[in-house]
Amino acid sequence: MSRPLTPGGGPATPERYVCGAVAALPLRLVSLALEITPGERGHPLDVATRLRCVLERHTDGPHSDLVREVGRSAGEVWTQWEDGGPPEYVCLLPDCPADNGEPGGANEACTLYEGHSGAHSYHCADAACPDAACPDAACADPACADDEDAPGTRTEPVPR
Ligand SMILES: [Zn+2]
Ligand SMILES: [Zn+2]
Repeated sequence: MSRPLTPGGGPATPERYVCGAVAALPLRLVSLALEITPGERGHPLDVATRLRCVLERHTDGPHSDLVREVGRSAGEVWTQWEDGGPPEYVCLLPDCPADNGEPGGANEACTLYEGHSGAHSYHCADAACPDAACPDAACADPACADDEDAPGTRTEPVPR
């Protein structure tokens, strides 16, 4: 063990970004995400269905997102999917034990699962939506665009 200078890996490196690939959780996996913890009954509304990969940008391996926080040390419910396909399963994975090594309020734990690929979450910048007031045209990420059918965006009905 010889890393005395930068406990936890030092400051975030700006070239590391979250993957951000999006997918939708199929309905049957919503049920599975609840049934996977028989001793910890959850509510369907606790299950995230609009998924966005939270791993560091990667070129191979499945995308991953948290679908349900169980609230126990047993871990959280995750799903994984391949490019172009829907998620096929959910699994209970233990939390990644890493943190950034900073003291007190600056301490940040990794929000990913143990054994994840890429950098820990606190080393990744989320590049998909750098501006909170992101205009639709400038952002290619469908997860951050307003719903297409929001009120006020429709054209007036044409009288027959
Ligand atoms: Zn991904
Ligand atoms: Zn981690």
